[in-house]
Amino acid sequence: MGQDTFRHQGLRRQLVLQLREKGINNELVIESIGKIPRHLFMDNAFLEFAYQDKAFPIACGQTISQPYTVAYQTQLLDPKKGEKVLEIGTGSGYQTAVLAETGAKVFSIERHKPLHENTRKLLDSLNYVSVKTFYGDGFKGLPAFAPFDKIIVTCGAEIIPMNLVEQLKPGGMMIIPVGPLAVQTMTIVLKKPNGETEVIEMDKFRFVPMLSDKAK
Ligand code: SAH
Repeated sequence: MGQDTFRHQGLRRQLVLQLREKGINNELVIESIGKIPRHLFMDNAFLEFAYQDKAFPIACGQTISQPYTVAYQTQLLDPKKGEKVLEIGTGSGYQTAVLAETGAKVFSIERHKPLHENTRKLLDSLNYVSVKTFYGDGFKGLPAFAPFDKIIVTCGAEIIPMNLVEQLKPGGMMIIPVGPLAVQTMTIVLKKPNGETEVIEMDKFRFVPMLSDKAK
């Protein structure tokens, strides 16, 4: 495994300042991003860029989300210690680690086997051993572990998957980018205590698509 150096830590402090300027003010989110060595979640070729506020390619044609996007989604989700959180799209595992740092009980699904396997190893090596990762189709959720307090989707969905809404606890919430390929609207889906849902639309983002079934 690579190392976390003073230089990386310095770059991370700069990144945290940038995120604050862009409106991120959840201290738990800021603390997590300040702590996690993002460069270890990226391919070696991009190491120099790990603390720029940009998305970068990872294996299987996917991307590690931009730090601002991770911070924005996590701030909306507002995970609390002990809450059960389901993530769709493990990818590099960076968002997964941010969730784990908040003390939430994290479950994460990835449809690409190499990403699932490599990220599992990385998470173990960084001591995120209690995070549960799964190789499967996020559209199905994880019925065996439902219901969840919160669900975060890190790929762009054309519509809100009802399967996932069903796996939320009453009073729970899902944060999901919804829309066509070009651009998605970050959407908050609240499941009220009486089971009704309320949908709130936020800012525009661009994610890789949420695709059905495991990858071939
Ligand atoms: N949180 C990740 C985001 C990776 S990009 C990170 O910051 O690294 C989104 C990920 O969602 C990709 O790895 C993609 O393979 C995965 N994905 C897309 N559709 C999926 C589905 N139906 N089930 C599980 N994962 C899915």
